[in-house]
Amino acid sequence: MRLLLVADLHYSLPQFDWVLDIASDFDVVVLAGDHLDLASLVDGRAQSIVVRKYFDRLRAKTKLVTCSGNHDLDGKNPAGEKAAK
Ligand SMILES: [Zn+2]
Repeated sequence: MRLLLVADLHYSLPQFDWVLDIASDFDVVVLAGDHLDLASLVDGRAQSIVVRKYFDRLRAKTKLVTCSGNHDLDGKNPAGEKAAK
């Protein structure tokens, strides 16, 4: 099994494009969090829409496993813990 694990792309679209370009060479691609750049001038919700489209395009090529990173957390859940909304 070939697995590609990347993390901390922080809304770097050239890096998302690179992952997309080589995804079909791997059985599984893992995007291990910190997809967004909350310090960017691009609104976090807009970044989220773009990143979700990358997720969809990756799922069309291979199996995708993903999770949020600490820099993707933009709110709190009912228990008061930081969460990705
Ligand atoms: Zn990071």
